[in-house]
Amino acid sequence: MHAVLTELGLQEKNSGACGADWIADPSGPEVVSYNPATGEALGTVVQAGTKDYEVIVNDALAAFEKWRQIPAPQRGEVIRQLGEALRAKKEALGALVSLEMGKIRAEGEGEVQEMIDICDFAVGLSRQLYGKTMHSERPGHRMYEQWHPMGVVGIISAFNFPVAVWNWNSAIAAVCGDSMIWKPSPITPLVSVATQKIAHDVFVENGFPGVMTMALGTVEAVGEKMLADSRIPIVSATGSCRMGRRVAEVVSQRFGKTILELGGNNAMVVMEDADLELATRGILFGAVGTAGQRCTTTRRIIAHKNIVKDLTERLVKAYATVPIGDPLDAGTLMGPLVNEEAVAAMMNALEAAKEQGGEVLYGGNRVERPGHFVEPTIVRATPDMPVVKDETFAPILYIMEFEDLDEAIRIQNGVPQGLSSAIFTTNVLSAEKFLSATGSDCGIANVNIGTSGAEIGGAFGGEKETGGGREAGSDSWKQYMRRQTCTINWSRELPLAQGINFG
Ligand code: NAD
Repeated sequence: MHAVLTELGLQEKNSGACGADWIADPSGPEVVSYNPATGEALGTVVQAGTKDYEVIVNDALAAFEKWRQIPAPQRGEVIRQLGEALRAKKEALGALVSLEMGKIRAEGEGEVQEMIDICDFAVGLSRQLYGKTMHSERPGHRMYEQWHPMGVVGIISAFNFPVAVWNWNSAIAAVCGDSMIWKPSPITPLVSVATQKIAHDVFVENGFPGVMTMALGTVEAVGEKMLADSRIPIVSATGSCRMGRRVAEVVSQRFGKTILELGGNNAMVVMEDADLELATRGILFGAVGTAGQRCTTTRRIIAHKNIVKDLTERLVKAYATVPIGDPLDAGTLMGPLVNEEAVAAMMNALEAAKEQGGEVLYGGNRVERPGHFVEPTIVRATPDMPVVKDETFAPILYIMEFEDLDEAIRIQNGVPQGLSSAIFTTNVLSAEKFLSATGSDCGIANVNIGTSGAEIGGAFGGEKETGGGREAGSDSWKQYMRRQTCTINWSRELPLAQGINFG
């Protein structure tokens, strides 16, 4: 067994079901976790079955009854301790993210840092769950709104950010007074169990078992159950647009709320006046980082026709220097794709791109070594090619050209997804136009920064088929609480609103 697993308290076979206590022998099927860099099995998780799901929901409901009565700053104190516990395990947990998902060590540790950051944010937030006070139109009346905990939050997460996205939701939901059930991706079960262990221990030590629970189970036994379960007032789901469509349909049927964080197809506009050196570095991290498996990965470059040749040459040169290899080796910049399906999806997309008139300018092949390695790839394309409008979760970068900014914005917005976008320019007029109401239609719009690598302080999410959800910073917390408008009459009259005289 890998040393990191032992350090994190994992065994060869682990339970994926945790309510107020860990369920020692869950009733679901086993799932094996593989290292995408070698293909070797890392360990096994026994998944939660429907029976276990019921136990876990009931535990989360019971925990909610207690937790919602705890003052928010005291809830924040527990999250402060969670942040400390994550700090203590940052290296090991980061290494396990890399081992299981394939992102390089710096990015694995960066993911854990993101959890620590969101815990810090949530601690501060626990003293700032502000409501507004309004002036009543009636004399002797006071009006205000307040925010109450909502209930049990369902959290469905994707393989590519196996733990950070859980904590974006869980840290905020916890200070808001909610309990929660996490259904992680079956592709990254070990790091999910390791993270749940850390969170569970913190909550047990504080006397609140069952606030953060986990039901790692199949879509049938757990996922679909969560969607249809009216005891779960809100489901926050991160993953593909296909999954999000299903979540929206089922949860809305029962008038539940959703936070949807779905696929992206992120573009960078590079103007004629851009600093091309800066743009090249931004593109390299955005397109090659995490082997193209970020929701915010740069997938399209829209370059001015006068600099497209220069920029492409710089990119081809930079791509040739990217060290591909074991994500845990120092010096590696690009690890593997997560599995063989991801490699096949990339090769299919490249075939489609060629058939549709695209030309591979760099890469395009798998790297012959054990594991699921591919070359980062650059394709000359045109905006009307259907494949360019899809999100292929792999390091394929499409380069297109434009003549003026209006055309660039049209191309940038001309895809179904609306997550992240960027412009590289030294002209303030172009930058402001890109950020204006007639500019980028995405949830994230950057200037002289790539499309990926968001900070937790801002609200994260995107429009159109990206689902419209917002998580992490700003006022995202409001989604995890229910709003109550209160009017108090301290007069001895009973005036009605709108001046209505009733008898
Ligand atoms: P996926 O859609 O295959 O799976 C995501 C999660 O949804 C998994 O836990 C899966 O088991 C679960 N799921 C699937 N069908 C379900 C159902 N019917 N009911 C309940 N749960 C169900 O996605 P993936 O391959 O793990 O992740 C990659 C995708 O996630 C990409 O499209 C990427 O852009 C997206 N993503 C988006 C964001 C964001 O914040 N916008 C962040 C990370 C990943």
